Amino acid sequence: MIPTQSRFASLSAPALPPPPTPRLQNQPSVQSLSSTVVRLPLHTRRRRQQRVRRRREVRALDAAQAFDFESRASEEMEQRARLKIAIVGFGNFGQFLGRKFTAQGHALLAYSRSDHSAAARDVGADFFCDPHDLCEQHPDVVVLCTSILSAEAVLRSLPLQRLRRSTLFVDVLSVKEFPKNLLLHLLPPDFDILCTHPMYGPESGKHGWAGLPFVYDKVRIGDSEDRIDRCDRFLDIFAREGCRMVEMSCAAHDENAAEIQFLTHTVGRLLSKLDLKSTPINTKGYETLLQLVENTCSDSFDLYNGLFMYNKNSTELLERLDIAFDSLKKELFGRLHDILRKQLFESPSSGTLAKRN
Ligand code: NAP
Repeated sequence: MIPTQSRFASLSAPALPPPPTPRLQNQPSVQSLSSTVVRLPLHTRRRRQQRVRRRREVRALDAAQAFDFESRASEEMEQRARLKIAIVGFGNFGQFLGRKFTAQGHALLAYSRSDHSAAARDVGADFFCDPHDLCEQHPDVVVLCTSILSAEAVLRSLPLQRLRRSTLFVDVLSVKEFPKNLLLHLLPPDFDILCTHPMYGPESGKHGWAGLPFVYDKVRIGDSEDRIDRCDRFLDIFAREGCRMVEMSCAAHDENAAEIQFLTHTVGRLLSKLDLKSTPINTKGYETLLQLVENTCSDSFDLYNGLFMYNKNSTELLERLDIAFDSLKKELFGRLHDILRKQLFESPSSGTLAKRN
C-alpha cells in the first residue's frame, strides 16, 4: 500500500504546477492575479481568470484521479500477490496447509485420489477428481502433498504437459533427498523446484505456526524476476505465520531429521505398543510420554514408514537405538548380577542360600 501511494503520488505530481507563492495557495488565485495584471485589457483579464479557474479545476480532478488510481493499483497489486496454488494429495496434511493458504487470500485448487470435495468446500478450495482438469487451471504453484510412499506414482500420473511451462513445483514431504531427486528426474527442465518441510503437523501446529521450523531448499528457481518473486511469495506464506524459516540442503535436512523426527516417531510408536493409560498420579514426565504417543500416532503409518524407507539415515538410527537399548539393559542386569553374586558367594553364612539351607 505504502509503495503504491508514493509511486502514484510522484506520477501525479507533474500535473500539479507548483504554487507560485504561499498566498496564491491560501487565497483565491483569481484575486491575486487580478492585482498583478491590473493594466491588461478586461477581456484578457477575463480569459486569464477563466484559464486559472480551469487550471484549478484540473488540479482537483487530477487529485481525485490519482487517488482512484491508487486504490485500483493497490487492488491490482494484491491480485498479483495472490497465488493460484494446487495441492496434490488433499489428505490430513494437505487440508491443514490449504486452510492457511485460503486464509491468506490465495486461490486454492485441490486434487486427491479420494473424494475430498466436502473438505475442500470447507477450506474454500475447488476440488478436482481428474488431474487433467486440475492442470488445465494453470496453477502458479503445485504442492505435492501425497504420502512419501505414493509420491512417485502420483507424480508420474500427472499430465504435466497441461501445466504452464514455468510452473513452480513444491513438495512438503517429510524426507527431502528422495523428492528432490524425483522432481529433478521427472519434471521438465523449465519447471521450478522448491523442496520444503514444514516441521509440524495438524496436532503440533493446531494453535498456530509461530516459532515452528520450516525448512526449505531452492533446488531450481529460474533467475528471472517473476520466478524469484513467485518463490518468495510462496515462502512468505509461512514467514507471515511466524515460522522459523531455515534454508538448508536436502541432504543436511535428512541427516538431522533422522534423529529429530524418526527417533521421535519411533519412541512414540514404541510407547503406543505398551498401551499406556492416564492415571490419577500422572507425573509431568509421564504426561509428556502420553502426549508424544498422541502426537505421533495421529499421523498415518504410511508417513512413519516413509520416514524409515526413504531416509537412509533412519536405518542407522534404528541400529543405534537397538545398541543403546541393549547397553542400557546390560548396565541394569550387570548391577543386579553383582548384587546377587555377592549374596551367593561372598558371605554364604548370611546369604539367602545359607538361610534356606
Ligand atoms: P500421508 O499418509 O503421508 O499421506 C496422505 C495423502 O497421500 C493423502 O492425500 C492420500 O490420498 C495420498 N495417498 C496415499 N497413498 C496414495 C496412493 N497410493 N495414490 C494416491 N494418493 C495416495 O499423511 P499426511 O499427514 O496427509 O501427509 C502428507 C504428506 O505431508 C506426506 O508426504 C508427509 O510426509 C508430509 N508431511 C506431513 C506432516 C504431518 O504432520 N502430517 C508434516 C509435514 C509433512 P487420499 O487423500 O486420496 O487418501
